[in-house]
Amino acid sequence: MLAARVLADHFDRVTVIERDQLPDGSENRPGVPHARHLHFFFKRGLMVAEELFPGVTADLQAAGSHLLDQGRDFRILYRSGWSPRAEIGLEFCTFTRPLLEATIRRHLVANPKISLLQGFEVAGLAISGDGARVEGVKIQPRHQDPNVLPEVQTLAAELVVDTSGRGSKAPEWLEAAGFAKPEETVVDAFWGYATRIYEPVEDYKKDWKVLFLMNRPPYQPRAGIIQPIEGNRWIVTIAGVMHDYPPTDEEGFLKFARSLSSPELYRAIEHAKPLSRIWGYRRTENRLRHYDKADVPQGFAALGDAVCGFNPVYGVGMTLIGLEAQALRKCLRDGKGRLDSRRFQKQVAKLVAGPWALTTGEDLRWPATQGGEITAKVKFMHWYIEQVIRLIPRSQEVFRRFQEVNHMLKPPTALFHPAVLGPVLRQAFGPKRIFAPKPQEAPARAPQHSTSTMAVRH
Ligand SMILES: Cc1cc2nc3c(=O)[nH]c(=O)nc-3n(C[C@H](O)[C@H](O)[C@H](O)COP(=O)(O)OP(=O)(O)OC[C@H]3O[C@@H](n4cnc5c(N)ncnc54)[C@H](O)[C@@H]3O)c2cc1C
Repeated sequence: MLAARVLADHFDRVTVIERDQLPDGSENRPGVPHARHLHFFFKRGLMVAEELFPGVTADLQAAGSHLLDQGRDFRILYRSGWSPRAEIGLEFCTFTRPLLEATIRRHLVANPKISLLQGFEVAGLAISGDGARVEGVKIQPRHQDPNVLPEVQTLAAELVVDTSGRGSKAPEWLEAAGFAKPEETVVDAFWGYATRIYEPVEDYKKDWKVLFLMNRPPYQPRAGIIQPIEGNRWIVTIAGVMHDYPPTDEEGFLKFARSLSSPELYRAIEHAKPLSRIWGYRRTENRLRHYDKADVPQGFAALGDAVCGFNPVYGVGMTLIGLEAQALRKCLRDGKGRLDSRRFQKQVAKLVAGPWALTTGEDLRWPATQGGEITAKVKFMHWYIEQVIRLIPRSQEVFRRFQEVNHMLKPPTALFHPAVLGPVLRQAFGPKRIFAPKPQEAPARAPQHSTSTMAVRH
């Protein structure tokens, strides 16, 4: 939707083709199973959404979303202890993903140049007679009589932008049309999610609005998060890495929640009222399609998860799409309305590189991770980030700078600013080593949950 908004400034007509029938309100739909799970916008993502759709933040808030401060409201239990609690001016917005989609969609369809074609699936690319460029897409109705041959139509377009997500078939379509398929890199730490919506206990006493209990590589694989959403509800996600998938049955879910690194999450949901069933999700690998190195035909571009899907635990996907939409706008402006596809894909690759290095780097801490390589650079980053994480519980400054990178307001190189590098070097090599305090909560995992050692063998 962000890309469509950008295109509308340069083309007379923009058609968003969506295989689902879109709901009027904020309901789940089959095409985005991940939408049932916890989603939030980092500050940079929210800024871009607001820039493209002025008023969207206020609309989200009016619908019950929460605009929170990363330091004041979000308590994170790192492996070195709790994050410092103080306002740091980094807002983020929490909601259900269907509410976010519905709110942005309302802004999108208000633009007379944009139309939604619902219930139609893109089934291939239309290629020019000389085989040199993409000239449109082949579409067919999603639901049709299986005994009738699909009615495939061609929709001509000056530019086709693939935003069909992780499951994009564009690489195969390009290959079928005689273009090189982009190569893929996959780094998979085998994370799994289980998510449920709760009504909190009235006046439940807590000192957080969002609670995130992180796991601890290499052997404590379990994490959990509670986030407020519209309707004064909580969305609760528990997650496990290295095949330690959280169960989706009532008893198993609660048992898993009780085994996290602090009892705080379990305590909060123990007497809360479940409002939904428990949904599982396992498609969490980091998957990068190297369109920047492929011979991308003119008339075609790709962005979002269609180019790079991240392990969702780092929450970067939608914010990065915002930055990619801005890059699309810049490339179109520079080309006076014409897109140089190869140049654009190189811009996307540059934007992806930093978050990719950070997320895959973290996933490579887990011994069962497949794909990727533990190079000297990765080893150094493991050491450096570990030092930063050890500093976080006692340094608000380091915490803020670390979060500015997470919120994509600063590039990962900002972690080497003297205000971070200095304390890191003093901590690691200084005469008086100050050790980070031990986590305030001892790991509360019961021995019968120790599936992590099993998982390591996979
Ligand atoms: C469990 C989970 C939690 C996450 N949490 C966060 C978070 O907190 N913050 C964050 O920033 N990111 C988060 N992400 C990442 C975020 O969801 C993705 O980065 C984002 O949804 C990608 O958007 P997209 O438009 O590229 O693809 P999608 O959201 O996958 O959308 C693709 C759309 O294309 C449609 N489609 C697919 N194929 C076709 C076709 N052939 N024809 C027509 N239509 C088609 C689909 O129906 C769908 O509507 C999370 C991801 C997961 C899995």
